Amino acid sequence: MTSSHHLQDELRDAQPRPVWWEGVHTGPQTEPLRGRVSADLVIVGGGYTGLWAAIEALTEHPGRRVVILEQSWVGAAASGRNGGFVSESLTHGIAHGEAMWPDELTELQRLGRENVAQIAEFLQRNNIDADLRMVGKTTLARTPHEVEALRNAVASYLRHGEDVEFLDRDQVRADIHTSAFLAGLRIRGGGLVDPMALVLGMRRVAEEMGARIFEGTAATGITRTGGNLTVRSAHGEVDASHVVLASNAYRPLLRRLGNWILPVYDYVLATAPLTADQVASIGWTQNQGLTDAGNQFHYFRRTRDDRIVWGGYDAIYHYGNAVAPELELRDRSHRLLAQHFRETFPQLAEVPFTHRWGGVIDTTSRFTPIFGTAFGGRLAYAVGFTGLGVASTRFGARVALDLLTGRETERTRLKAVTGTAVPFPPEPLRWPAVELTRAALAREDETGRRGILLRTLDRFGVGFNS
Ligand SMILES: Cc1cc2nc3c(=O)[nH]c(=O)nc-3n(C[C@H](O)[C@H](O)[C@H](O)COP(=O)(O)OP(=O)(O)OC[C@H]3O[C@@H](n4cnc5c(N)ncnc54)[C@H](O)[C@@H]3O)c2cc1C
Repeated sequence: MTSSHHLQDELRDAQPRPVWWEGVHTGPQTEPLRGRVSADLVIVGGGYTGLWAAIEALTEHPGRRVVILEQSWVGAAASGRNGGFVSESLTHGIAHGEAMWPDELTELQRLGRENVAQIAEFLQRNNIDADLRMVGKTTLARTPHEVEALRNAVASYLRHGEDVEFLDRDQVRADIHTSAFLAGLRIRGGGLVDPMALVLGMRRVAEEMGARIFEGTAATGITRTGGNLTVRSAHGEVDASHVVLASNAYRPLLRRLGNWILPVYDYVLATAPLTADQVASIGWTQNQGLTDAGNQFHYFRRTRDDRIVWGGYDAIYHYGNAVAPELELRDRSHRLLAQHFRETFPQLAEVPFTHRWGGVIDTTSRFTPIFGTAFGGRLAYAVGFTGLGVASTRFGARVALDLLTGRETERTRLKAVTGTAVPFPPEPLRWPAVELTRAALAREDETGRRGILLRTLDRFGVGFNS
């Protein structure tokens, strides 16, 4: 149904994998775990969250025995296939932060800025060339009600010390040459990174610091053994005093997490490298990240070699929390993305798409991660980054480590950390509830009016306003 040879169109020749994987090592670099190993800390999941947990734990206590178990290979999941937008926000945007944690937002913004600055320092110190560019982004309005929403957002950005500028129709078109956009909000904080280069750089540093990574090793269960925990896999196990769960949208080892995490698929295309003339035909001289302002939004950016990565819009939940490799290609979503791209940039009609892929996002009902402990404080989790984890996973990993020490820090005091999200209903209700919400969000995009369902969800702190 979704395999590429059924595509009789311009996507037929697109490679079914992330453009970020061109020219770099993909696949496992280490052997699966066999036999019994002891450690001080076991981390389940080798994406950004797991790698940051290892790096931060080893920075604080060099010599600590840290093991990472990764069911596939490091970078295979969201961390190696995302859009690479580096956001300073820990609250999924200012508007959402104001709605959810108004008293803490100034502090959360400060921590978010510090977090990104420290990531930049880390890359520099370790000679990681991940194409990090602090170019910010522009959010673009396609409808009159989005123009008003962007205009109204300016005050709250300024209130929280953000450097933003409202661009009217002429200004936005002078920057990005297309009639698709009616206004823009230029946000100077944050930037862009090559997501796979970031994973590989972090992996190298984690291993240099002494972390042992076992790829092809799915953790299948956790049990108490004496004062310790044992994490099991098919051919081996690790005994350790502490565990961090960094398994993102995948079926969690801790059953309670399934109430809060909804695996949602996001789809992406990449074009062939643009010629200098093609780049000139769209302007985009600041080379910043771009997104549109609707609930169903595209995000797009240029790569090092001036391809355009164009993703988003559809967000697809599959019945029963399904997560599987075959869900990473979806003809309908990819075709829709291609159509939207051609409509937005008619001057690029001749540029072919060379890659298409998808990835799974761990959505929570509050759009920010949930944190907590289990097994008497010996296990901590940080999951639910909801499509905004390139930078915030570092903050999340540090929260998980704080929780394991039991100490109070500037992070663990925050309500945004201690509070929990409204649970999603279980199946068979979950799927229809998601579809109803999706339809309501699409309607709001069309009409600019927030219907009764969304207003009710807003009241319960279920965050769909970003
Ligand atoms: C298409 C797409 C675009 C995105 N764009 C952006 C963006 O532009 N900006 C942004 O900030 N965020 C973006 N995100 C989100 C961002 O990529 C994620 O929030 C982030 O990568 C999460 O990192 P993670 O380590 O928690 O999860 P992952 O990278 O998913 O890593 C979790 C790992 O755990 C492993 N695992 C799970 N269960 C087990 C188990 N039982 N045993 C062993 N291993 C296990 C998995 O195999 C996986 O490798 C995007 C996501 C997608 C999918």
